[in-house]
Amino acid sequence: MLFFSSFCLLLCILPLAVLCAEDFYKLLGIDKSASDREIKKAYRTLSKQFHPDKNPNDEAAHHKFVDISEAYEVLIDQETRKIYDQYGHDGLAQHKQGGGPQHHDPFDLFSRFFGGGGHFGHGGGQRRGPDMEVRVDVPLRDFYNGQETEFSIERQQICEDCEGSGSADGQVETCSVCGGRGMKIQKMMLAPGIFQQMQSMCDSCGGKGKTIKHACPVCKGSRVVKKASSHSLHIEKGMPRDMRIPYENEADESPDWVAGDLVVHLSEKEPELGREDEERTDGTFFRRKGKDLFWREVLSLREAWLGDWTRNLTHLDGHVVRLGRKRGQTVQPNSVEVIPEEGMPIWHEEGGHSAEEFGALHVEYVVVLPDQMDKAMEKEFWGVWEKWRKKSGVDLAKDSGRPVKSSHDEL
Ligand SMILES: [Zn+2]
Ligand SMILES: [Zn+2]
Repeated sequence: MLFFSSFCLLLCILPLAVLCAEDFYKLLGIDKSASDREIKKAYRTLSKQFHPDKNPNDEAAHHKFVDISEAYEVLIDQETRKIYDQYGHDGLAQHKQGGGPQHHDPFDLFSRFFGGGGHFGHGGGQRRGPDMEVRVDVPLRDFYNGQETEFSIERQQICEDCEGSGSADGQVETCSVCGGRGMKIQKMMLAPGIFQQMQSMCDSCGGKGKTIKHACPVCKGSRVVKKASSHSLHIEKGMPRDMRIPYENEADESPDWVAGDLVVHLSEKEPELGREDEERTDGTFFRRKGKDLFWREVLSLREAWLGDWTRNLTHLDGHVVRLGRKRGQTVQPNSVEVIPEEGMPIWHEEGGHSAEEFGALHVEYVVVLPDQMDKAMEKEFWGVWEKWRKKSGVDLAKDSGRPVKSSHDEL
């Protein structure tokens, strides 16, 4: 109850503080019910965005960076989160005075996520870890409709249990053999009176200059763990098939370096008929070339020649493209019909896809002749040909322009 009364007192003294401090959930752009994972994700994104290295001479960004780190530390801890949820910023101030955990240096916290010394290291002499590349297969449907999806990769991460120290109790000692230099110097006598100094790596600490008495049980003192990490992937409508999407500082982590970039290389999945209704479209088997789509439609001899047919093609988003000819309209074999606006959404580097722009759909017609015919039917057709070929046949020899005399006519 003591807590309550002093809390009320504080409320009266510090009404200004209540007005100034921004809500931690709002600051991180998350819900009151956010999970630890969502809190971490928000921190990862925002701390990079507002890091002072990325916003030189921007006071407001610097403040935001510090606030984000504070919000993260309060919300990731069950105890402080509860206090914050119930009593807000003043409750926290009270808790801190009563010996609660103090905040880390915001750059320290940053380095626990991304390694290095809490900076991006552009020009700062910081080592940078290697970039990673990962291929993500995406069905054509997602390139057409756009998609918000997730993928998971195994990568090296800074051990959360020991916060990258490698030590179970947080105690890291300076190596007594090399005095923290990680190197030892040996004197070798080359000849009487002539010495050479040789530098070699200290085997006692493995060149780190530090030793750990009680190794962290999770990472066994290595400071890093191999773990699956999931990332969200936003595929914009019409994105190129071989698009590369960079995820800054999301490659392998280590306390010794700033994490490099993870690069997602999109590629188009082989078409397969899905199980869901919306995956069972003709469009699944469209072929893509840049902004255009290609499809092969099969017609019977009768359809190609005499017309009077329709086809309903279901596109990748389920809308129907109607093909067809009226009676008497002929389609030549292997001819291509270009249907404007039914291709891929056109995507721009700046601004993605604008609603009205689409490529074309190219439909190639394949005509299939019957290879078997009913005897009576064959006879009838034969009779019709015989009757008409002499009357209104085309002189193929004349049409071909070849100097061959021929009396061969055909319909
Ligand atoms: Zn040593
Ligand atoms: Zn550990």
